[in-house]
Amino acid sequence: MKKRLTYLEAIRKYCIWCVGGQIYKLDELCIGEECPLYPFRHKRDTLKGTNREVEIVVCGEKIKRKHYTPLKAIRQKCLDCSSGDKAEVRNCICYEGNPEGVEPCPLWIYRMGKNPFIKRKKKGEKNGIREN
Ligand code: SF4
Ligand code: SF4
Repeated sequence: MKKRLTYLEAIRKYCIWCVGGQIYKLDELCIGEECPLYPFRHKRDTLKGTNREVEIVVCGEKIKRKHYTPLKAIRQKCLDCSSGDKAEVRNCICYEGNPEGVEPCPLWIYRMGKNPFIKRKKKGEKNGIREN
């Protein structure tokens, strides 16, 4: 079975693709802080211990974000990729084994800015068990 990428690994893989596989030139070829993925490009959370405020460019617009995390970064990158169209992000077909034969995107599974592998408790549930 193929190993599932963590969100930091997914970002790293995307970044390597972004620089044409030239992993050792990543910082040289990277556009820099304005890319939503920039703080996490080396598979590390470089915002740890900071106030997590960033200024990024999404769809050509400079925006400020607070409480910035890798999952939020992926969301912003996907919005940037889809011209800000949330539906387009949701319906992105770049998943593994898509019928169109499009190259899969490493960010796909996290494109909604959430970790789909974490089960969230619904309202009225305790430890994942619904209380009547
Ligand atoms: S941070 Fe952005 S611009 Fe830089 S390598 Fe990654 S995807 Fe490319
Ligand atoms: S998952 Fe889809 S929307 Fe997100 S960056 Fe990849 S191709 Fe673009």
